[in-house]
Amino acid sequence: MGASWIDVQGALFIWRWSWGLPLKERILFQVRFYIYMKKRKVGLAYIFYAQPGRFDMYLTKKELKVIILLGGIITGVLFWGVYGNAQSELKEIALTFDDGPHPYYTEQLLDGLLDRGVQVTFFVTGEHASLHPDVIKRMHEEGHLIGNHTYSHIQLRNDNREVFKKELILTSVLLEEITGEEISYVRPPYGTWDKSFEEELNMIPVLWTVDPLDWCSDNVACITERVVERVDENDIILMHDYYETSVTAALEIVDELLEEGYTFVTVEEIMFE
Ligand SMILES: [Zn+2]
Repeated sequence: MGASWIDVQGALFIWRWSWGLPLKERILFQVRFYIYMKKRKVGLAYIFYAQPGRFDMYLTKKELKVIILLGGIITGVLFWGVYGNAQSELKEIALTFDDGPHPYYTEQLLDGLLDRGVQVTFFVTGEHASLHPDVIKRMHEEGHLIGNHTYSHIQLRNDNREVFKKELILTSVLLEEITGEEISYVRPPYGTWDKSFEEELNMIPVLWTVDPLDWCSDNVACITERVVERVDENDIILMHDYYETSVTAALEIVDELLEEGYTFVTVEEIMFE
């Protein structure tokens, strides 16, 4: 059996009065009062809706149930809308840089990426990594993903399978020594790859979807335009951090695409999320 109308009105009156008490006393009083009212079967809903500024009136339990139910549905719909949109509006994209590290241009690129809070993926050769291990270390420390691009930028052919494989292993060992982390990703030079290496070496090949041919152009605006105009979400952009124009263009691309609402991620996030 529920409480009578008089009971509820009385409870509401005391409840409203209790809001005038100092904080500590109020909390103590309200908790005790709530427990007391609960014993008399006056629900939490009554007391909740009797707070000043809320419904300053008597509602039946049925009405309160409807209000609470509607409130829940509206909150759910709003939350779903906001969260759902946030999910679908996250346009992810990955910038990748091959052939480095270059002692000067790569550092320049890292500075620019750090300023913008952007993470990218570097596919480095073992040869260049062994010359500039400090740059590799910096890439790793600043949250970029590092992948294998063979030792000497060798292209896989029918007759050099074993040499190619050795170069991959040598480069991974070197990079793991510098970063302390396992190297799982490989970008085969010129995109030539043998699927059986994936199991043999436990490596994941990463190709690309947008190639602005940055290495054959010294026109920054042209490189930038080629990328910005073609790009779509989940694209993997191929660039090189071995040329000054590429680095300048890459930072311009980052600025323009950030403004368009893209989020830069490493290839790992594009491939596995
Ligand atoms: Zn390359």
